[in-house]
Amino acid sequence: MGKKISIIGSGFSSLSSACYMAKAGYKVTVYEKNQTLGGRARQYINDGFTFDIGPTWYWMPDVFEKFFADFGRKPSDYYTLEKLEPAYQVYFGKNDSITIPGSFEEICTIFEEEEKGSAVHLRKFIKSAQDNYNIAVKDVVYRPGISPLELITPQTTVRVGQFFSTIRKQVRKKIKSKKLIQILEFPVLFLGAKPSNTPAFYNFMNYADFGLGTWHPVGGMYKVIEGMVTLARQLGVEFRTNAVVDKIETDEKRKVSGIIVNGENITTDLVLSGADYHHTESLLAENLRQYSEKYWDTRIFAPSSLLFYVAFNKKIKNIEHHTLFFDTDFDVHAKSIYDTPEWPEKPLFYASFPSKTDMSFAPEGNEAGTFLIPLAPGIEDTNEIREKYFDIIIERLEELTGQNVKESIIFKKSYCVNDFIEDYNSYKGNAYGLANILTQTAFLRPKIKSKKVKNLYFTGQLTVPGPGVPPSLISGKIASDLILKTYQK
Ligand SMILES: Cc1cc2nc3c(=O)[nH]c(=O)nc-3n(C[C@H](O)[C@H](O)[C@H](O)COP(=O)(O)OP(=O)(O)OC[C@H]3O[C@@H](n4cnc5c(N)ncnc54)[C@H](O)[C@@H]3O)c2cc1C
Repeated sequence: MGKKISIIGSGFSSLSSACYMAKAGYKVTVYEKNQTLGGRARQYINDGFTFDIGPTWYWMPDVFEKFFADFGRKPSDYYTLEKLEPAYQVYFGKNDSITIPGSFEEICTIFEEEEKGSAVHLRKFIKSAQDNYNIAVKDVVYRPGISPLELITPQTTVRVGQFFSTIRKQVRKKIKSKKLIQILEFPVLFLGAKPSNTPAFYNFMNYADFGLGTWHPVGGMYKVIEGMVTLARQLGVEFRTNAVVDKIETDEKRKVSGIIVNGENITTDLVLSGADYHHTESLLAENLRQYSEKYWDTRIFAPSSLLFYVAFNKKIKNIEHHTLFFDTDFDVHAKSIYDTPEWPEKPLFYASFPSKTDMSFAPEGNEAGTFLIPLAPGIEDTNEIREKYFDIIIERLEELTGQNVKESIIFKKSYCVNDFIEDYNSYKGNAYGLANILTQTAFLRPKIKSKKVKNLYFTGQLTVPGPGVPPSLISGKIASDLILKTYQK
């Protein structure tokens, strides 16, 4: 029988590595503290309405294809993918919005209408973004973050300037329209940092947006989790839910010997943790932790979020499946996330209405809406504050889209910092892990392999390559490859 590997958590990264490790012949058991699998991508179902609790944007379909292809499968073996047309809508004020179509040619037309001459710049920008995508997502992001040399390839060497310039500078060089700038700066928000703090090289996210498009797995993001769990089971992975890992045990040679799950001692050869990195290290004796509390406290974390899952008893007008409300100053909101952590006075927010295109989310004639305000991690979280912000965004939704919705609410559920801590052992209640700024990129991120404990590995959005569903899939592969390489030596 193969070696025993215990995987902590069942988020995208853990599921990804569980599949790779099982395929390589390991006996894999996944331990998940929650009742259901999927980590931050779980599902909330109530009264005929369905909500994805976490991720809603399906970008970079090629990464999912590559993952399933590694097992001789296709995404369509497990879920149905539809390209959203239009991709999304962005509000800048009352009755003032831009809708981003599904095709790049149509996007160029929209740009030209907004700012004469901008389409020429957009084409050049997206071409450079595509080149970076081909270098980054097809190669560089699959490297394990061990050495700075991993970043040095013939293609990255000629682009070194792009690591030291920022997306903000790059976008603003040629485009002047404030609205178009906001649209072009939006994709890097997925990386968890401000555009003014994100290297220009990351414009590959713009190619993911305009070049590859926005997709929707019918039934929601949770269908992808279900697909990966099915694949994992087909490969022999065992799952244990309501299974809290309390401790990682080591022998006198600082080698993993077992884990304690709900008080039960389980022997294991290796541990791979997809739980938040800070929490995983807290399961070790203090002298076996690699990173101090000060280290974590001085990292730039991606935002936390205040979310609302709302059931409406009618269809909502003038919105799309994905709708961004960018009618307030982004720089001021960003300051309250990254510089002086506080509740934003005039928050930007994002809303998802999947029932607009997918009837499985709400009963006929009803709408399921998810609302998200990005926030500073660790911020005070009380019911009163949540209610205050709910009123703010519902009123803004009403005003900007010109309709009454408040009295059409059947129920709502909120989710914020305290829930992220309680449900996922998330450091300071972060939602998306560690931001991808230059000083927290690649080999500068927390390591996949523990330097202090033998046979202990990490995966997920706090390690390489970073936050987001596609990076989490890649992270699972990177961690597994590293384990397999180490054992083949
Ligand atoms: C609100 C929100 C919206 C998002 N939107 C998008 C989006 O639209 N598109 C996109 O690509 N990405 C999005 N993301 C980011 C994406 O969801 C994450 O990057 C990804 O799901 C993280 O996966 P992971 O495997 O790193 O960790 P997680 O999903 O956090 O998994 C970690 C797991 O470990 C478990 N765990 C913790 N401690 C223990 C323990 N002691 N014992 C056992 N189990 C434990 C947790 O319960 C959890 O299940 C979003 C995230 C959030 C929160």
